[in-house]
Amino acid sequence: MVNPASRTQSIELSQIRKMFEVTNPDAINLGIGEPDFNVPENIKIAMKNSIDNNETHYTPNKGIIELREAIVDKFKKDNGIKTNPENIIVTAGASEGLFMCAQAFFEAGDEIILPNPSFLSYEACITLSGAKIVSVDCSMENEFKLKAEDVLEKISSDTKAVMLNSPSNPTGAVMEKEDIKAIADLSMDHDFLIISDEIYEKIIYDKNHYSPAKYSDNVITLNGFSKTYAMTGLRIGYLTANENYTEELLKIHQYNIACASTTSQKGAYEALIGSQNEVEKMINEFKRRRDLIVSRLNEMGYETVNAEGAFYVFPKIADEDFVQKAAKTGVITVPGAAFGSNGKNHVRMSYANSYENIEKAMDILEERVVNG
Ligand code: PMP
Repeated sequence: MVNPASRTQSIELSQIRKMFEVTNPDAINLGIGEPDFNVPENIKIAMKNSIDNNETHYTPNKGIIELREAIVDKFKKDNGIKTNPENIIVTAGASEGLFMCAQAFFEAGDEIILPNPSFLSYEACITLSGAKIVSVDCSMENEFKLKAEDVLEKISSDTKAVMLNSPSNPTGAVMEKEDIKAIADLSMDHDFLIISDEIYEKIIYDKNHYSPAKYSDNVITLNGFSKTYAMTGLRIGYLTANENYTEELLKIHQYNIACASTTSQKGAYEALIGSQNEVEKMINEFKRRRDLIVSRLNEMGYETVNAEGAFYVFPKIADEDFVQKAAKTGVITVPGAAFGSNGKNHVRMSYANSYENIEKAMDILEERVVNG
């Protein structure tokens, strides 16, 4: 047996995926992090046509020009970010974008400020790069929203970057504009990067999304098609930053995947320029489910913040055996501690499952776990 590199040994496989593998296939899955909707029809047609037209060759490393132009328009219209096609890189999902950021900019001796709790991949990508994680608390008292004053406290001369993720996986928290703006100012004053993962920007209720790149030049904005257009398996995302940064990011992308899948790029282009009706329907349905799951959990006595975005709730559940008990009775959830020490005594539940299944799952939890 040949030993893996020490950097590989420094991280572990996701426990969440492992858990799904061992649970009964009939269980209601509130663990999953992807929309239960299908890819909208117009996007499927665009992808099928592109294959029939033999558009199955490599594309430019940064992606096809019409898609990059559509992304530039999207950033201008939705986010107030001024960019150009040269500074867009189309990636294999936001996952690749994240990995590129860490590989291109983080190294031993750097400190990366990471919200706690946060999406699992952040920790792994930072650790693989050799940089050190500096954890910043997102507490339930602040509805899990990252606050600028808490970030300020963690800044040192070694701070290389701050990870932002609003709306957040796993809490559903949407950061306030004033905090986004203040952290953007800090990134200029203290010369560090903001890696802004905006993959859930469209899944947001009665609240506006703000991009730090509108206020600072030191931002790499990550986004993708997985959540907004239910295109998880198509592995397609994008990023933008100013030209000093995109050139370095491109080195990692070029020698890793060369370019994103041509078929997926064609679908992504259609997603941006086509009708947004399906997106709107999906968000309305997510909101209906969010209202249901929050009220049911609160009725059961589990304190739950009315998450303003993404498709997760993060109730406070002190029972350490809850996740196991729920799984045994047929409801899959994820222990909050998987997302960082502040997630202890919480459980992540995804409502990317049908309204009926969520109702059923809540009935099961109420009858067999809470009262059982
Ligand atoms: N960021 C966050 C916060 C996520 O929740 C996910 C998906 N679970 C990703 C990035 C990765 O998305 P993609 O499918 O675009 O790689």
